[in-house]
Amino acid sequence: MSKLLIVGTVAFDAIETPFGKTDKILGGAATYIGLSSAQFEIDNAIVSIVGDDFPQDHLNLLTSKNIAIEGIEIVQGGKTFFWSGKYHNDLNSRDTLETQLNVLADFNPVVPAAYKDAEMVMLGNLHPLVQLSVLEQVDNPKLVVLDTMNFWMDNAWDDLLKVIKKVDVITINDEEARQLTGEHSLVKAARKIEGMGPDYVVIKKGEHGALLFHEEQIFFAPALPLEEVFDPTGAGDTFAGGFIGHLVKTGDISFENMKNAVIYGSTLASFCVEKFGTERMETLTRKDIQLRLREFENLTQFDIELTPKKVL
Ligand code: AMP
Repeated sequence: MSKLLIVGTVAFDAIETPFGKTDKILGGAATYIGLSSAQFEIDNAIVSIVGDDFPQDHLNLLTSKNIAIEGIEIVQGGKTFFWSGKYHNDLNSRDTLETQLNVLADFNPVVPAAYKDAEMVMLGNLHPLVQLSVLEQVDNPKLVVLDTMNFWMDNAWDDLLKVIKKVDVITINDEEARQLTGEHSLVKAARKIEGMGPDYVVIKKGEHGALLFHEEQIFFAPALPLEEVFDPTGAGDTFAGGFIGHLVKTGDISFENMKNAVIYGSTLASFCVEKFGTERMETLTRKDIQLRLREFENLTQFDIELTPKKVL
């Protein structure tokens, strides 16, 4: 079975949306990525860190999805990373209310021996030095995907540029792509990011879908219009998990197959937002995913003759 190594936060989140508020619940970039990529029945492992305040039930949830957790260090007497955020009415933008790094502040990741030869590596959101350290410990992965966010642009700019230089694909949201490059046009921003290292750039635009850039080529996938959106937290990570999960499963890293990976990523993210936190991802089945992929197909298929007939 092909192996995927995931690094990222395993966290407590407190979330406020126009529909309600949660106290400390399970969150973290690696958690969402893992719950998403686990749907592909590949060999997933998480490298992360938590404190001894982190409930065993949360770890059990990950193992119940066949995610290897021996790379999650538990620090006795330590406190787990905590993030809280509040969404605006449009649910497309949010304010971070608080980020407590806690045990993440002194994290030296150790990649389990069994995953040093992972085919692909997903560098989920956390300190770029931790992401770099993980890259130094793996043998020769076929593909490395990086996700990051504004917090690390504000707090670890130089280290972030170092890690961006070493990866094949970056997934980033539109606001962050603009912050990273100083370009308003996402096309210009993607070109600039390609100049920083990655061959492929995925720009996530929340409910407006995702764009995949590679040299002169651009592919766009809409997000599925949903009746209920409760909580967008983790949608970006769930997208990344679906994107890389598909690539690991198929072993094909061509641009053509990355287009499919974007569709899988968007499909998985569409479930994540339906309930608070990880709740929907916990009960998701392959049947649910298949049905939604069909909906996606129906949404995006159209018959229009553009050439050679002149219609206008
Ligand atoms: P997303 O909505 O996909 O951007 O991801 C939200 C998740 O990212 C939450 O579950 C948080 O725990 C986690 N998170 C928030 N801030 C950070 C940060 N600075 N570094 C790493 N993970 C973070």
